[in-house]
Amino acid sequence: MRKNIVVGNWKMNLNREEGIKLVEEVISLVSTDNNVEVVFSPSFLYLHKVNKMCANYNLLQTASQNISHNERGAFTGEVSSQMVNSLNVKYTILGHSERREYFNETNIELKQKVDLSLKNNLEIIFCCGESLNQRESGVHFDWIKQQLTESVFHLTEKEFEKIVIAYEPIWAIGTGVTASSDQAEEIHQFVRNVITEKYNENIAENTSILYGGSCNPTNAKELFSKKNIDGGLIGGASLNAENFTRIIKSF
Ligand code: PEP
Repeated sequence: MRKNIVVGNWKMNLNREEGIKLVEEVISLVSTDNNVEVVFSPSFLYLHKVNKMCANYNLLQTASQNISHNERGAFTGEVSSQMVNSLNVKYTILGHSERREYFNETNIELKQKVDLSLKNNLEIIFCCGESLNQRESGVHFDWIKQQLTESVFHLTEKEFEKIVIAYEPIWAIGTGVTASSDQAEEIHQFVRNVITEKYNENIAENTSILYGGSCNPTNAKELFSKKNIDGGLIGGASLNAENFTRIIKSF
């Protein structure tokens, strides 16, 4: 059965002390037996520390926000999947729209990152989603299918079990504009259908598909009540312990 997951993507926010305080507060507020996997995605710098803080709780996990598309070597400033795995981190986020937009990540490069992550035992939170222009011109379904086809649909069934999909409409990220629960559900259902076509119904039913884009304590319950929405990838609202915890408790 697929899991409910809530991921906090801190992006380039919070210093070490602030991050530690946030994790301590969330741990004290959240019940660790409520069957929701909670994933913190801090800066690489604090990933080790945050991962250690979560080590005693099965339902608390961590994710890197990215990894290099190179395996190792002379790539100054890069962090490899093998390095992240050596910290016992469970996940990496890949293909966030900010990485696609500001760092020119392509579907082909993401495919390399997907392969390296799996090779180094990292599970993947794979982001996809359309711009406002694409939605308004009606190409969003094809666009999302293409993102999946070119970056993750080469995987075997066994490998695909390590993939969590995050649908993140770009127009909703950090804008305060949320996709309506019906808009989000429509895409989640579509993604599940596309996974069924590519693999089979069993795999599709077992894949967690998260929504991301201005999800907050007020709209989370409605979003998470939808049949195909299995949780959220949360940016801004994950930086405050009370807000993040309220989202976690929204199932
Ligand atoms: C994100 O960064 O993936 C995100 C969804 O951000 P926000 O919740 O701030 O829109």
